Amino acid sequence: MGSVRTRIPPSPTGYLHVGNAWAAFFNWLFARRQGGQVVLRIEDTDPTRSSPEYERAIYEDLRWLGIDWDEGPDVGGPYGPYRQSQRAHLYREAAEALLRVGAAYRCYCTPEEIEQERRRALAERRPYRYSGRCRTRSEAEVRALEREGRRPALRLDVGQFHDPRWVTADGWLQARREDGRDRLYVVVHDLIRGEVAFGLDELDDFIVVRSDGTALYNFANVVDDHGMRITHVLRAVEHLSNTPRQVLLYRALGWEPPQFAHLPVLVGPDRRKLSKRHGDAALREYRDELYLPEALRNFFALMAWYPEDGREIFSTEELVQRFDLTQVGRASPVFDRQKLLWMNGEYMRRALREDPERVVDLVAGYLARHGLLPESLLPEQRAYVRRVVEVLGERIKEGADVLRYGDFFFLETPRYEPQAVASYLQGEQAAAVLKLAQQVVREVEPFAAAALEAALRRAAAERGFSMRAVVHPVRVALTGKTVGPGLFELMEVLGRERVLRRLEHAVAVGAAAGSAV
Ligand code: GLU
Repeated sequence: MGSVRTRIPPSPTGYLHVGNAWAAFFNWLFARRQGGQVVLRIEDTDPTRSSPEYERAIYEDLRWLGIDWDEGPDVGGPYGPYRQSQRAHLYREAAEALLRVGAAYRCYCTPEEIEQERRRALAERRPYRYSGRCRTRSEAEVRALEREGRRPALRLDVGQFHDPRWVTADGWLQARREDGRDRLYVVVHDLIRGEVAFGLDELDDFIVVRSDGTALYNFANVVDDHGMRITHVLRAVEHLSNTPRQVLLYRALGWEPPQFAHLPVLVGPDRRKLSKRHGDAALREYRDELYLPEALRNFFALMAWYPEDGREIFSTEELVQRFDLTQVGRASPVFDRQKLLWMNGEYMRRALREDPERVVDLVAGYLARHGLLPESLLPEQRAYVRRVVEVLGERIKEGADVLRYGDFFFLETPRYEPQAVASYLQGEQAAAVLKLAQQVVREVEPFAAAALEAALRRAAAERGFSMRAVVHPVRVALTGKTVGPGLFELMEVLGRERVLRRLEHAVAVGAAAGSAV
């Protein structure tokens, strides 16, 4: 086999979504497994929706995910340009070739005429297919239409394939006997789905170039995939219905089609198409939520392909080594947020161990985005974040955990959860415990976790309080919540002054809540 070449063809009409990122990753994984190349092609044929900002964001997001490409608009390559908007001349050339061999014809029908045909089909309860009216126009007719100022679109003449000479040994077009007659099928040999057959008579003469001269998706795709020497097209199954048309275009142009693999659609745990509620979001939203690229890669790989030994954690190198497209199933993989969260937790733990400063950067960025820290930090602010990260440790599985378990580190006054206040700050005993804690905190030396614990224990025993009865109100007083990192560690990080202030404040909060009921 010649060198494998796959492509990643995003449209820069928005941020890269997880579904597209997943497909891009599979193209990358497959190419790298085969020692092949990855081509990035920007499909920006819709000028009203495409923008350079989105294009830049796509590069950034793919690179962040760890996907690189050997050829593309930003890195060049021998088969460029790699932006569809700059390839009009190539589409024009291919269109001329189609006309030259009589595989396509000019269509002068107006949108109104097409609409009429469509309505008639609807009234007669049959699927709409273009009538082929322009296929047989006389030269005189064409001249008259041109004089009217009509500009022609270009349609592929699908009728030409109803000819036995196209039925060749490689089986892309097959005659199958049905009800005593031969019916022709365009057969897509899909690497995941096997043979998928489409009745040729269900395909009408479709438009390949609009009357304004711009190429349609199917046509541009074929010209580009051929021109860029793509050997394998791995794309979402949504595109499967386009594939027979593309195959006809390859054949009409006398080109060999690439191999196709149509990837299953990701679904949510409800087995429906991925929705906002079930994780359908831009890749960068995951990045902003502190998902690590290596965790996403591992998760993405296992979504449609399961190595046999039941292992779940793989380095990217291992994924590349073991990836096997033939094991990718047809079943829709479930995008399981819980599993992703678990996996990110695993990688976060690894990052804490191997590169804690990276986690400090991530957490600092997250806090800045949530308005709890400035964008750039003084050395002592950074040191403080480092200590918070140490104390939160494995509780951080995603960004939200930083706030869930640690927002109080960065707030002047904690956000007191009403339920926590009602359970632990109200009443006389709570007030007594908080006063006791103040006394201990004022006097303890050094102000450090172990000493704090010992001193509080002693004081609680002397006053006949259980340790539980002390720990819970103090935790709520300092953090506003009932769960979080180790109490004595967090006290040490907050420092004596702040702890004292919060204990004082909590007495007032408890009293106010008590008088309100
Ligand atoms: N730009 C198209 C898309 O994003 C590419 C489809 C294809 O892979 O052929 O859907």
